[in-house]
Amino acid sequence: MAKKWYPVVDVLTCVECGTCVGFCPNGVYDKTKAPSPLVVNPVNCVDHCHQCGNRCPVGAITYVGDDTGWIPPVLREKGGMPDTTPNCGCSCGCGGSCG
Ligand code: SF4
Ligand code: SF4
Repeated sequence: MAKKWYPVVDVLTCVECGTCVGFCPNGVYDKTKAPSPLVVNPVNCVDHCHQCGNRCPVGAITYVGDDTGWIPPVLREKGGMPDTTPNCGCSCGCGGSCG
């Protein structure tokens, strides 16, 4: 288990889907607070594990101690930037909320 490796959730980006909380098998997140991702046992995190971050749909998870150059897959696919393309298919600038 890691002493200097654990997940940090960007609460402004997180949509509280609960994926990370439900996935981690090591009790790093408090499952009683699901779907909110509350890190309660950071020492249980496995050194160099990115599995919860790989599953986060919005790229809200990074890791203390990460020197690997890892980028959340959802951001990697967009060239390292969050996808702000409207999903309603229009170009009104609503950010996807008008549909
Ligand atoms: S990085 Fe791995 S061990 Fe650490 S919280 Fe995420 S799933 Fe659990
Ligand atoms: S997987 Fe990502 S969006 Fe979902 S609860 Fe965890 S940090 Fe938040």
